[in-house]
Formats: sequence, structure tokens, C-alpha cells
Amino acid sequence: MGETVLALRDITRSYVSGDETLHVLRGVNFELRAGETVALVAPSGTGKSTLLHIAGLLDHPDGGVIEVAGRDAGRLPDKDRTAIRCSEIGFVYQFHHLLAEFTARENVALPQMIAGTSPSVSRRRAEELLGVFGLGHRLNHLPGKLSGGEQQRVAIARALANAPSVLLADEPTGNLDVSTADSVFGELLRVVRGSAVGALIATHNEELAARMDRVVTLRDGVLVEG
Ligand code: ADP
Ligand code: MG
Repeated sequence: MGETVLALRDITRSYVSGDETLHVLRGVNFELRAGETVALVAPSGTGKSTLLHIAGLLDHPDGGVIEVAGRDAGRLPDKDRTAIRCSEIGFVYQFHHLLAEFTARENVALPQMIAGTSPSVSRRRAEELLGVFGLGHRLNHLPGKLSGGEQQRVAIARALANAPSVLLADEPTGNLDVSTADSVFGELLRVVRGSAVGALIATHNEELAARMDRVVTLRDGVLVEG
């Protein structure tokens, strides 16, 4: 296994609504290594999305430390967190969240251009990545003209566009039928295993989870080996 690309130390997070406090994360510890695939399998409402958003620097924990690619991301100003998120973290949501008015190629090229890569290099890498996901013939399609499985493949390609250290996916095939989920997930694993990215993937699907290197679960607000 490679070096640690994501470390969570004693992460806590509560939600306050009215006079009730819901302690979702009560001290999560976790390490993800380069090239490793980890499934996060836990029932709805246990805090998977909360944890992934915190790990992806999309949300702040109440306490604890988040290290991404060896940097303590929690203490940085927003501008630096955004830069780390852009270059080191790829995020895949259950619903593709592609930009509707941009083609598949543009959706995958955009995060690279935001990171400072030239348009021509970004386009070329987008084409290459979409080709890897079997979408070489869908480069100029708008998301609305793609099937659910194709949309999710584009979203995964986009998440990998900047060759991040960490890939986080929140039930990425949860919206797909069983056989499409199976093939999209297989491609995701194949691409991840062919690269150095470490992947933490929330899924309800135990069969898919079993194909990953290890399984973790959330129990009473802490992460345990599943
Ligand atoms: P999962 O992804 O495992 O389904 P979530 O992280 O979405 O779990 O939610 C964990 C718990 O926190 C749930 O009980 C949910 O209702 C609650 N929760 C999530 N987001 C908020 C929020 N913004 N405000 C209040 N409660 C929230
Ligand atoms: Mg969720």
C-alpha cells in the first residue's frame, strides 16, 4: 500500500435543531492509502454523507483533524481549502450533478481548466478519460441526452480529471438499476486500481462493497472495520 492520502482524526459533528442536538459523528478515525479502495457501508441516517462532505472539505467538523495528501486541511483559510479540494479530491454524488448546458467533454475538462490546465490539454485528457469509461462516442452529448449510467460515468471521469489523491463517492450507483450499477462500479474500480488514487465509497450494495479492499461501517458515530 502507498502513503496515507486521507487521514481523519477524532472527527466530531453534531446537528442542532431547536433544542435537540444530534451527535452524528462522535470521534471518527480513519486512514486511506494511495491505491486503496474502501467501502463505507452503513444504514441510512448514520452519517455517511456527513462524513464524506467533511472529508471532501465541503463542510467543517466541530472538532478533529483532516489531513489530505499530508496537509492539515482543517486549519487552512477557505481559499487554500478550495485549492486542495480542486487538485487533491474528486467527489461523486448519487445524482450526477453535471452542468446541463455543457457537453460531456466540457464537464470533464472544466475542473482541469479551473485548476489552471490549458483548454487543449484539458480537452484531450477529458477525451481520454471518457474513452476509458467507454464514452468516446458521447463526447459532444449534453448530460440530458445521456442514460443514467452514462451520466454517472461522466461524473466519475470528471471527479478523476485532476488526478486527485482521494476519490470520495456518496452512493455513486444508488440511482442506477442493478446491472448498470454493477458495470459502472466495475469500471470505477478498474480505473481506480489502475491509478494511485485512494477511494472511499459509500454504498448500500453489499456485493459491490465486497469487491473493494476493505469495508468500514459507522456505529454509534464512530468508524469501525465492517
Ligand atoms: P447518511 O448519508 O448515512 O444517510 P447523513 O449524513 O445524511 O446520513 O445524516 C445523518 C443524520 O444527520 C441523519 O439523522 C440526518 O437526518 C441528520 N442530518 C443530516 N444533515 C443535517 C442537517 N443539515 N441538519 C440537521 N440534521 C441533519
Ligand atoms: Mg447519504
